[in-house]
Amino acid sequence: MAIRLGIVVPCYNEEEVLPETNRRLLDLLNHLQQSGLVTADNSLYFVDDGSKDRTWEIIESLAAADSRVHGIKLSRNRGHQNALLAGLFGAEGDAVVTVDADLQDDITIIEEMVHRFSEGCEIVYGVRKSRAVDTAFKRSSAGMYYKFLAWMGVDVVYNHADFRLMSRRAVDSLRQYSEVNLFLRGIIPLLGFPTATVYYDRGERFAGVSKYPLRRMLALAIDGITSFSVMPLRFIAALGLLVCLLSIAMIGWVLYLRLFTAAAIPGWASSVLPIYFLGGIQLLSIGILGEYVAKIYLETKRRPRYFIEKVI
Ligand code: UDP
Ligand code: MG
Repeated sequence: MAIRLGIVVPCYNEEEVLPETNRRLLDLLNHLQQSGLVTADNSLYFVDDGSKDRTWEIIESLAAADSRVHGIKLSRNRGHQNALLAGLFGAEGDAVVTVDADLQDDITIIEEMVHRFSEGCEIVYGVRKSRAVDTAFKRSSAGMYYKFLAWMGVDVVYNHADFRLMSRRAVDSLRQYSEVNLFLRGIIPLLGFPTATVYYDRGERFAGVSKYPLRRMLALAIDGITSFSVMPLRFIAALGLLVCLLSIAMIGWVLYLRLFTAAAIPGWASSVLPIYFLGGIQLLSIGILGEYVAKIYLETKRRPRYFIEKVI
């Protein structure tokens, strides 16, 4: 049974890649249609995340050339996760696939995703087989980060980014999550429903440069932890308890020295070292608390996540 498919592509300053990306995705849709997997009624949604280059003009011309191509223009740059959300919520179709504009993710596996969907899976994750094309730094930091998330009790799919297929039902369920600090990779597994995983090799960006500098990557990484886990707060409490117990033991030790030995020389080390040590722990703990307070602050404002300026 053929389905209606929507493909969402977030774009931030992607003028170099857009025409080629559009061509490859339309080819793929043609191919899927010929194989009888999708109907003729498919759509491609390019979400312009407040680009400063000619991205929107290009989207307009692509949309004029093919009725399947649509554009959603956000009022300003709101970041990858919000752009994805705007696309998901604006897209039509029985199933919606999200993929990055640089097509680093192998779009040929979308066919397999559609098969899984037809078999009843509501969410199909695209997972990278290897990180061979990444820099050694990105590979090792990402690996550690996924392990750390798992250790913190955050349920994420290892080596899965935002290349996935979602059913209409899954997208509608996602609408009920109103958080402003978006980390979709953490929310989607919370939805439940039957899921499947499809593996692929990630390639290089075929043109243009990465729109994810280290600063943004770190911000997303911190969101991933503090939006889904209270473990850091518990860790602080545990640390506090440990230090208290140690201090009690130390008081015992000092009393023993004072009462039963002649070795009780007023020590410099025993008074100065704890000051620095505890000062460090306190600052760190306050910092972590502050991270959560900031999150509460942002969430309670309930600010809108994005505004749509134009739709074509
Ligand atoms: N992107 C976006 N808004 C941003 C930054 C990035 O919509 O503020 C899009 C970008 O156009 C691309 C995707 O997010 O489609 C992933 O970005 P990129 O390929 O630069 O990240 P990398 O693959 O280097 O992690
Ligand atoms: Mg990329």
